[in-house]
Amino acid sequence: MADRDPVQPLHQPVLPVFEEEEAWVEHAAERFEDAAAEDLLAWALERFHPRLAISAAGGVDGMVLLDMAWRLNPEVRVFTLDTGRLPAETYDLFERVRERYGIAVEFEYPEADAVSAMATDHGPNLMYGSVDLRLRCCEIRKVEPLKRKLATLDAWVAGLRREQWRSRRNIAKVELDRDHGGIVKMNPVADWTLDRVWDYVREHDVPYHALFDQGYTSIGCAPCTRAVAPGESERAGRWWWEQETDKECGIHCSVGLLGSASDSERTASLRPVSDGREARPR
Ligand code: SF4
Repeated sequence: MADRDPVQPLHQPVLPVFEEEEAWVEHAAERFEDAAAEDLLAWALERFHPRLAISAAGGVDGMVLLDMAWRLNPEVRVFTLDTGRLPAETYDLFERVRERYGIAVEFEYPEADAVSAMATDHGPNLMYGSVDLRLRCCEIRKVEPLKRKLATLDAWVAGLRREQWRSRRNIAKVELDRDHGGIVKMNPVADWTLDRVWDYVREHDVPYHALFDQGYTSIGCAPCTRAVAPGESERAGRWWWEQETDKECGIHCSVGLLGSASDSERTASLRPVSDGREARPR
């Protein structure tokens, strides 16, 4: 990880006493567990807007939330983390969002000096070198920009779903985001299936990422995302060369707490190729 001071939250939490906020969030999670996604979004917008924003990275879940929220409040805020390694189709999608909804998506960028030092020291494709280097890239390009953004908000909304991956199985629809200063995080489609998401997209003619028509089931940075084969899990195309990690970048959870394989564990699990070198990602 980069040797840097953590970004400190700038905002004043909505509820001043942390224990009270925790109880309040738990109560909200119970209240909305069986509620429609629109109901949770309506409540969230009423309570937190304009200090609430939807996180959208190009995935179809985020687009559903954007569409749903825009119908409730056309002033809804949306942000994205522009890592500098996004596929061209992601920018095309945000142009379509601008045209269709009139939403000026807020782009957040990594610190140029940190990216420059990282690429100079380890090369532009350091993510293939080791899990630690991949996480370092995610830290600089995603995690730190997200911290800076969330430090200006009281609540954020993400398109996480429980069926996506093992690390997401236990997410609540309303959570206290302890990694980001105790602000409120909402996952309104946590209990949706992928089929239900696509049904919504078709029904409401929601713009979606062009790579979904090329076999992709999850959208991320270009060097770290590929199309999946029939029958593979939804997130199999993310960091596909890593076999024993949680397929998270640290923005939705602390990857270190989820049992990601360390480099030594990963090295032991890699199948050697014939000349004795480690197997490399495809
Ligand atoms: S997904 Fe890949 S390119 Fe994007 S920040 Fe993480 S390691 Fe870097």
